[in-house]
Amino acid sequence: KQEGRNSFRLYSTRLDVREHRWLAMETALRDSIDSGEGLGLHYQPLVERDSGRLYSMEALARWHHPEFGQVSPADFIPLAERSGLILPLSRYLMHRVAAQLRTWLDAGLTPVPVAVNLSAQQFWQQDLIEQIRALYDDYRLPAGLISFELTESMLLDKQQQAVQVLQELRQLGCRVAMDDFGTGYSSLSYLHQLPITTLKIDKSFIQQLGENQGSNTILAAITGMAQGLKLTVVAEGVERQDQLITLRQYHVNLIQGYLTGRPMPAEHVARQYLMNDNG
Ligand code: C2E
Ligand code: CA
Ligand code: CA
Ligand code: CA
Repeated sequence: KQEGRNSFRLYSTRLDVREHRWLAMETALRDSIDSGEGLGLHYQPLVERDSGRLYSMEALARWHHPEFGQVSPADFIPLAERSGLILPLSRYLMHRVAAQLRTWLDAGLTPVPVAVNLSAQQFWQQDLIEQIRALYDDYRLPAGLISFELTESMLLDKQQQAVQVLQELRQLGCRVAMDDFGTGYSSLSYLHQLPITTLKIDKSFIQQLGENQGSNTILAAITGMAQGLKLTVVAEGVERQDQLITLRQYHVNLIQGYLTGRPMPAEHVARQYLMNDNG
């Protein structure tokens, strides 16, 4: 009995510690959003599978804090979602992307479209489309230069309304990708009803290629279907040459992964990818 009580107290203390760290991080994130300090974006190239040419980029949030160090977006995005910070954070990041595109344009570069990850709360905001239109106006961006990625779980149970929002995004000239496809609640039957342009195959399938016959079979099915639906297909998480070679057997248009380019700061991506193209 004594021991049981002790272990309960230990457990409860550990929870307190975790809870405390969580709250401290939330406060720190709020401060960073207010000041912009430590918050930024990396850009990862998406290249054409066969030519290797740059096609677009994905903007990925980065956060560095003096106390917590480099925090992964896999941790701070969910934290922001739980604590009501995701909307101000996302708004801040979208402005950063638009400002970056404007900087590149002013420097005489020809930027490719940059994809922004939308979280569920952001997608379902009443004024999402207005915000995006204002962004294009304020930064005087050519149509389509910002595109979007979303996940299927965000659309669950609300497919009709989702179609509406997606159509409005498409009317602005934006491409829209279904992210992490093949994980979670994939419903092949409704995919054709969604006005999306792109399917991003989750990296878990790419990483199992060759090791696991099942993932090759799934890849064949997904890419075959995507081809039928005339969707652009992206293979995410391509790390090795043999994976790229295997992907030549399937209807895959674009490659994103450490093999073809890591997420990197704006200056690097411009130097390595945008300059070469345009002199
Ligand atoms: P995601 O949207 O699926 O982004 C792709 C993730 O895969 C990124 O992780 C990227 O760095 C990583 N990656 C790219 N190539 C490779 C590869 O070859 N191998 C491996 N193992 N990984 C690769 P990251 O940057 O840590 O982001 C994690 C997740 O956080 C993202 O997954 C996305 O869901 C979320 N996220 C990141 N930035 C934002 C943002 O601005 N807004 C929202 N709402 N979510 C974001
Ligand atoms: Ca993404
Ligand atoms: Ca993904
Ligand atoms: Ca993801």
